[in-house]
Amino acid sequence: MEKGDITCPKCGAGFRRITLSSLAGERGEFRCTICNEVLEVRDGSHAVAYRLTVAPSRILA
Ligand SMILES: [Zn+2]
Repeated sequence: MEKGDITCPKCGAGFRRITLSSLAGERGEFRCTICNEVLEVRDGSHAVAYRLTVAPSRILA
């Protein structure tokens, strides 16, 4: 299990990224749940879980 942090360059939200190397994942993009910016593209080789850890300083209405 591998952990890392991602910060959205657009809105400043922080995400904890956890790679589950023992599981196969799905291909796709991870988008910021706040502003929908694409933060990462996954190749599907591993399952990856994301969790919002830092709320952005400005929440868009
Ligand atoms: Zn964002």
